[in-house]
Formats: sequence, structure tokens, C-alpha cells
Amino acid sequence: MNYYSTNLQSPQASLEDAVINAVAPDGGLYMPQAVPRLPLAFIRNMANMSLQEIGYAIANFAFQGDVDAAVLHDIVYDTLNFPMPIPQLEPGRFVLELFHGPTMAFKDVGARFMGRLLAYFKQKHNDWPVINVLVPTSGDTGAAVASGFCDVPGVHVYVLYPQDKVSYAQEAQFATLGHNVTAVMVKGTYDDCKNIVEQALLDKSLNSRMQLTTATTINVARLIPQTFYYFYAVAELMRMAEDVSNLVIAVPCANLGNLASGLLARAMGLPVKRFVSVENDNNIFYHYVQTGHFVPHATVASIAPALDAGNPTNFPRVLNLLGSHAEVERVVHAYSYNDHQIVQAIGRFNERYGYLFDPHSAIAYQALCEDIMPGEVGLALATAHPAKFPDAAELVLRHPIGMPAQLARFFRGTRQVTTINSGYTSFRRFLLQ
Ligand SMILES: *Cc1c(COP(=O)(O)O)cnc(C)c1O
Repeated sequence: MNYYSTNLQSPQASLEDAVINAVAPDGGLYMPQAVPRLPLAFIRNMANMSLQEIGYAIANFAFQGDVDAAVLHDIVYDTLNFPMPIPQLEPGRFVLELFHGPTMAFKDVGARFMGRLLAYFKQKHNDWPVINVLVPTSGDTGAAVASGFCDVPGVHVYVLYPQDKVSYAQEAQFATLGHNVTAVMVKGTYDDCKNIVEQALLDKSLNSRMQLTTATTINVARLIPQTFYYFYAVAELMRMAEDVSNLVIAVPCANLGNLASGLLARAMGLPVKRFVSVENDNNIFYHYVQTGHFVPHATVASIAPALDAGNPTNFPRVLNLLGSHAEVERVVHAYSYNDHQIVQAIGRFNERYGYLFDPHSAIAYQALCEDIMPGEVGLALATAHPAKFPDAAELVLRHPIGMPAQLARFFRGTRQVTTINSGYTSFRRFLLQ
């Protein structure tokens, strides 16, 4: 399968090229040149398959022989090696818990898959130089990528994060691993980190001296594995005898990678009636759905920090998958909540169901409740464990929330951090020295 650029000004790329370069030379995002359509019989039969079996089958459809089948099997089984429970909070309303992986956020899926896929490419071409993976993060991506890549030979990860804007707990998850993971603190904002990485990827002279890619959802190696759990969720709902022809899925959105993966799954034939996109005050996509105008702005900080994105990277893919503003409006209902509403939502559901959401997932469930119509089945994606965002949880619980052992283990390590200025040249100089 080849991949084309959403800007249409670059030649098509193989899977390998798309993954090791991340962005097309024209600055566009890669998309599969033909989205494979799954047979209806396959969809119906998913109710008899496990999470790993479904993931492997979807991966085979998506990659169409570009990855050796036995290797792909290993990669998928190694990635999908934690449970994804689907509690029902009310009749016909479900939560898909995607946060039981190594760093307790849904990004573990795409990050681990990409780490293992790069390891495979690297092994196939052992003459390749080191692959440098640049990751801008407001917290969660850095942690998931560092954990997914920390044992991958021939790959070096640089995590760029904004000074004073990433929690101490999050920093521990990528700054204590050492080895092939370098933590780079930028004296600036998340937008600065993102700009530095985007400039580096398009810097021709730098790229002729070293191999650079990124592990954000710009990379198809993260986008595609995120389709697996959408298929799995539908399979589970079918097992529970829910009417999936009426399915509405709510997704907390920042760079729209998760939503783009859901739309890709739908384009592959997954029955989803519509999606509900959920943002905080960084509501660029909400504004687009309401008005047809896509107007990025500087990021504002919120109590749901993983949604702080003022220029959602995957917007071109969303538009590409749906074709027009009218179709976006029809298939995606958009919602946006401020900090006050976010805390209220966590409190409301904790009281009503005894279920503690993290701030991102709480508003996904809130939007689902507001949007769903009688007779429809609803699913909200829970993207992080509530203990990852203790400030929000403690405002509601009024007592400290314990840290799961899985996260506490990172505190035992020593932090190693390099600090740079917010301009691109500072980072370029650092990389080349
Ligand atoms: C990254 C993240 C999101 C947003 O995902 P996008 O693909 O950037 O839209 C939502 N919730 C949590 C907890 C995240 O870490």
C-alpha cells in the first residue's frame, strides 16, 4: 500500500518511507492511497474474536503485506497486551477504558506499535543510521513514546516539553529512562516544542545529515494501530447484544489523531453512526464544525492539559476522510467545555455512578449524554487513568488520590534533562553537537 500526501504535491511513499519521514516533503500528512474496505462477514464475525485477533486482522487489512505476517503478529500481540474493559454506566451507555497500558493513557497503543514497527524496519536494513524520533509533548505523548521505544535498538528518542507546564509526575515518565531517551526542556510553550519539531522535519540540510522522524499522530505508524480498539469496542458491544447500527462514539480531542483513527475505521467499514468530538477551551475544531472556518490560535492552559492544542495537526486528515464541511458537520457533532464545566462533570459522574473519570474522559461522557438520542447506543473513550491528573480528581474527591504502582515506579529513577531556548536554532545546534 502506498501513502499520498494530503497536500498532493509529493510523490507517493511506501509504508517504510512514510514512517521514517513522518511528514511528506510538501509538509502534508500521509494517507493510505486506498482505504481497504472490510467484508461485512468479517465485521459480523468479530464478536467471536479476541482483542489481539481483531488487531492482527485489521493490521493485515491495513498494511496489505508491507510487513511480514509473522512479525506483524508479534508487534500487534505485544502492543495489545493489556485489557480494555467496557463498563456500562447506564443502559446503552458505555465507557471504553483505554488506559490500562504501561503509562496509563491510550497513547500506549500507538506508541508501542510504532516502536516495534521501527525496530523491524531497522533490523531489515541494518546499514541504516540511527533513527532520531522527535516528540513534542504536553505530557502524555512523551511518556507513552519513551515507554514504547525505550528498548528499541538503533532508535534515539528526543522528548521536547515546555518548562513549567508538564507535571512532575509526567516528567518522571520520560526523563528517568536514560539510555536512548533524551528529555529536552524548552524554555517556552507546547506550541514552541511542536514548531521546533515541525521545522526540524522539513529542514532539508539537517535531514541530509541525520535520519529524523516523529512519533506524534502525524505518523501513520501511530494513526493506524489506533483503529484497532474501535473495532474491538464494536465487537464487544455486539457480544453484549447492543444494536451497533445506532452507535455514537465520543472522543476527547486535541490534535484529532484519535478522531482521525476512528474516522479511518469507519471508512474501513466499521459501523459508527456518528462521532462526538470533545474539546476544552482550545476549541478550534468545534469552531470549525460550527462555522466552516479553521482558525488556529495560541494554546491556552486548562485542567484537561492533554487537550491543550491550538492548531490540531490531524485536521487535514479529518477533512480528507470526510470530504467536505457539510459531511464533517453530519458525521461529527462537536462540543467544548471550560474548566469549571470539566470539574463539574467529574463530580457529577462520581456522585451518580461512583465512577471517577479523568478530566478528558469526563467531558467525553458528558458530551455523549447531551448528544445521544433515544434508541442510540453510546460509547465514550476514556483516554487516561484519573490518577494521571490528580489535581482535577482531588478537587472533586477532596482527598489525595493514590498513585498506581505502574506510575510510581518512574519516581525511583534519576531525572536527566537538557534545557534549550524556544527558538529552532537552539535545538538544531543541540542535535548536531
Ligand atoms: C493525547 C490525548 C488526547 C487527545 O488525543 P488527540 O489524538 O491528540 O486528539 C485525549 N486524552 C488524553 C488523555 C490524551 O493523552
